[in-house]
Amino acid sequence: MATRNGIRQFKDEQDYREHFVIQGEIDKYLPGGKHFIDEDLINRTLAEADATPVDPVRIREIIAKSESTCETLEIAETAALMRVTDPALFEEMRAAADRIKKKVYDNRIVFFAPLYVANPCVNGCRYCGFREGNAQQKRRILTMDEVREEVEVLAGRIGHKRLIAVYGEHPKSSTDYIADSIEAIYKTACKAPKTGAPVGIRRVNVNAAPLPVDDLRVLKDVGIGTFQVFQETYNRKLYEQMHPAWSVKGNYDWRTTCFHRCMEAGVDDVGLGVLYGLCDWRFEVLATILHARDLERWFNIGPHTISFPRLEPASGTRVPEESPWLIDDETFRRILVVMRLSVPYTGMIVTARESPESRNRALDCGMTQLDCSSNIAIKGYSDFSDEAHQEKERQQFMLSDNRSIEEMVKYLADRGTITSFCTAGYRCGRTGGCIMDALKTGREGKFCKINAVLTFREWLDDFAKDPATIAAGEDLIKKELAGIEQWVPKFYPTVKKQYDATCAGARDLFF
Ligand code: SAM
Ligand code: SF4
Repeated sequence: MATRNGIRQFKDEQDYREHFVIQGEIDKYLPGGKHFIDEDLINRTLAEADATPVDPVRIREIIAKSESTCETLEIAETAALMRVTDPALFEEMRAAADRIKKKVYDNRIVFFAPLYVANPCVNGCRYCGFREGNAQQKRRILTMDEVREEVEVLAGRIGHKRLIAVYGEHPKSSTDYIADSIEAIYKTACKAPKTGAPVGIRRVNVNAAPLPVDDLRVLKDVGIGTFQVFQETYNRKLYEQMHPAWSVKGNYDWRTTCFHRCMEAGVDDVGLGVLYGLCDWRFEVLATILHARDLERWFNIGPHTISFPRLEPASGTRVPEESPWLIDDETFRRILVVMRLSVPYTGMIVTARESPESRNRALDCGMTQLDCSSNIAIKGYSDFSDEAHQEKERQQFMLSDNRSIEEMVKYLADRGTITSFCTAGYRCGRTGGCIMDALKTGREGKFCKINAVLTFREWLDDFAKDPATIAAGEDLIKKELAGIEQWVPKFYPTVKKQYDATCAGARDLFF
């Protein structure tokens, strides 16, 4: 494994635990020792909202503000939205969430797949199958050859272009290894099964432990997409109960300041998330907004995405079944709607942890990205030909939505939603701050629509097997092209030229 300049090496797990966190990189972003997750403020805001009757006029004003400005709401406004239980008023909120999603991202859903690369872990998160000491879990750090084998299935057989690479926290699979594996993923060249066209992974997002600034710069250099770190819970006391003090992850401040360090390192697409089910969801929603606002305050850039993982059964733990804060499907849907209204510009990810019904319903609640044909067992894609295969001892938790990419594409096309495999934003520098304004004004959504059509065309030609999927896709593309012609008549000939070139076999064209 290459050792990159400036990256600290650790002699063993204990050395890593004791020295990995750099206190100065925490303090810099908590001036005066004051944390931006102000728990008293959150609790006061929730109590005030509870003491105030729901006023439909105010709720409609808040909805209108979100829709017209596309700016992050004040937490008191979000707290008011969270109080709405009247079905008719909630339906107004949901419809507005859907309109905002369409204004910012148009009628497309971006596809990605998880790739679990390494599962040894020095932490003891009580809800996670990977935690240290869980003897039921089989451990593995993929070699670079094995990484390539996984990518050959993901990019060469399924047709994914965007991955989220996932890692446990361990000195043997830390920054150098993460950088090596990102490079290996990008370099794996595949051929499409139907056309023989060159295909591969074009964007590698990462979900890993918080890193120091120098390490993040290394990941920036190898072309990381979004860096995701889920906070799990923002409630410090519950956080400490779930993450033992002896573990690196036990350091709440190191985790909460991670995205500030990302921005400092130039990794300006960051992905927030809470593990729903660990704490009162209303507290978590307000804390997420405080986090987003603090990033906006320091860097003028908010979260590129927010994910909505919910606790799922995992090997060797009962926390996912027994936590007192588990939420039902209806509450999950409310969270999505409230978050779409509260952080209107952000991408929203709902993973295959959710059931098919829950994900189908999320489509009308502001969701923008989903994974499919997912296998989260380590080496799962190349070891099992059956895409739905799951093995509790080889994966972090269990998935609920096992639908294949083909099923998902068809389902979306039938409802008039276009699947996007576009990764252009990252390749032409539309990240972080550059993309924020374009998103808020709806400009980015329109660009992306064109790229969605081109990449969808590629996928249909390169990978689609079922004639019914192809027919549904063709119908949708026709409608989309007509829509683009109406929207930008002068520009349309250029779009059509690119589209025709794609049909003739050109690949990776984008706007
Ligand atoms: N190990 C790194 C860390 O914790 O920061 C990387 C992320 S971990 C491999 C991916 C995420 O899975 C965690 O942040 C957590 O939110 C989620 N997760 C862990 N256990 C889970 C469970 N039982 N059900 C659903 N999601 C879970
Ligand atoms: Fe390790 Fe991440 Fe699992 Fe915690 S959530 S035990 S850090 S893999």
